[in-house]
Amino acid sequence: MFLCYSGSMNYHHYLKKIELWYPFKKEKCNSCMGLCCYLPLEVTLEELYKMEIISLEETDADFLSSTIKRLKAQGIVERYNRADEKFTLKRRASGACLFLGEDCRCKHYETRPKTCRNFPHVSPFNGRCPYQKI
Ligand code: SF4
Ligand code: SF4
Repeated sequence: MFLCYSGSMNYHHYLKKIELWYPFKKEKCNSCMGLCCYLPLEVTLEELYKMEIISLEETDADFLSSTIKRLKAQGIVERYNRADEKFTLKRRASGACLFLGEDCRCKHYETRPKTCRNFPHVSPFNGRCPYQKI
């Protein structure tokens, strides 16, 4: 079975060369290994709740410090930016999002963050995406 996040290949160079990417076509996602899920991802507290990564109680601002501490300790979050109130998610050694399944599909597809829903239309990538055939 193909492991999308195995890290056996290094896509770092390709992901940095946006001029090599393809114009986005939705139907291509079906045959793609999901390299868009290898890009850094920031999420809000509310999005973490929708993805069932934090509890309702942890959405309370009073618990923010302990929530950040827990998520860091569990290797889910890399850092929290107090200026824009966003969490940068930790990624696998390969660069893949922690929630990318071995079948190249998002484990939280229905509740995926806004950034993922809007990619690549709302992104600095001008409608291009790093398609890579499975
Ligand atoms: S890289 Fe492009 S084609 Fe592949 S899953 Fe992401 S949006 Fe779809
Ligand atoms: S949350 Fe899902 S769609 Fe978004 S980057 Fe991670 S695996 Fe991809």
